[in-house]
Amino acid sequence: MNPFKFISAKDTNAAIAAHHQNNQAAFLAGGTNLMDLMKEHVALPNEVIDLGRIGLKEIKETANGVSLGALASNTLTANHILVRKHFPLLSKAILAGASAQIRNMATNGGNLLQRTRCSYFYDISMPCNKRKPGSGCAAMEGFNRMHAIFGWSDQCVAVYPSDMAIALSTLDARIKVSGNGSQRVIEMKDFHLLPGSHPEKDNSLSSGELITSIELAKNSFGKIGLMLRSGTEIPMRLRWYLLP
Ligand SMILES: Cc1cc2nc3c(=O)[nH]c(=O)nc-3n(C[C@H](O)[C@H](O)[C@H](O)COP(=O)(O)OP(=O)(O)OC[C@H]3O[C@@H](n4cnc5c(N)ncnc54)[C@H](O)[C@@H]3O)c2cc1C
Ligand code: SF4
Repeated sequence: MNPFKFISAKDTNAAIAAHHQNNQAAFLAGGTNLMDLMKEHVALPNEVIDLGRIGLKEIKETANGVSLGALASNTLTANHILVRKHFPLLSKAILAGASAQIRNMATNGGNLLQRTRCSYFYDISMPCNKRKPGSGCAAMEGFNRMHAIFGWSDQCVAVYPSDMAIALSTLDARIKVSGNGSQRVIEMKDFHLLPGSHPEKDNSLSSGELITSIELAKNSFGKIGLMLRSGTEIPMRLRWYLLP
């Protein structure tokens, strides 16, 4: 692992300001993906800004739905009464992923920003356009059985690994982000990007923008995990999450 400076931000503004001072810095939430990337020399931040002391861990009811704090753990989110009651498919999607230990550490914001699991991306001896733009794609002629059949480009055929993101996409979630003096909302359908000619860019966040929350509006579709129990037909793309 390369040497790096470590700071612990006291609040959202301090974290954003620290990143604004140094765009080679990385935010650290649960660390379950970032630490692996740093150990493998895939991510090389010269500064790590720990978000652990920042609030943003609350899950609360809003006027028309539920707000998930970006730093709430995946475990808290999946088991929260509001999520289980109004969005059971999200709860099931989260619990379908990783392990209890990982979910205890992993946060909602970090989950959306985890990087691909393509093995060539993690192997710095191999060409990978996502890790090193212009170097090539080892998966094209290599081991690619678990790679994309839709949405790939001649630059990258990797798939996006988050279980939670698929459910959020289905629920038309909205991602609230803050930057240096700005705030905006990104529709989930616009959040992740197809590889196209820039596979190194996974999402539509600008450098230094911090995810603060994920907003869900209540709708009958959100309860689809409950409807299954009464025998209702469900779309094929959701069966993975809903069937026992
Ligand atoms: C063994 C293992 C198995 C796994 N299996 C699954 C699985 O089956 N399904 C699945 O979906 N996932 C799986 N994962 C991935 C896991 O869910 C992610 O690693 C985790 O959700 C990342 O969250 P984190 O809080 O630890 O993020 P970190 O590792 O702390 O951060 C990840 C990235 O997000 C950035 N970041 C974090 N929070 C914010 C924020 N609020 N705003 C802006 N940037 C931020 C960081 O800078 C970093 O770039 C697995 C991981 C491991 C290690
Ligand atoms: S599929 Fe994408 S992530 Fe995997 S080696 Fe090719 S460019 Fe890299």
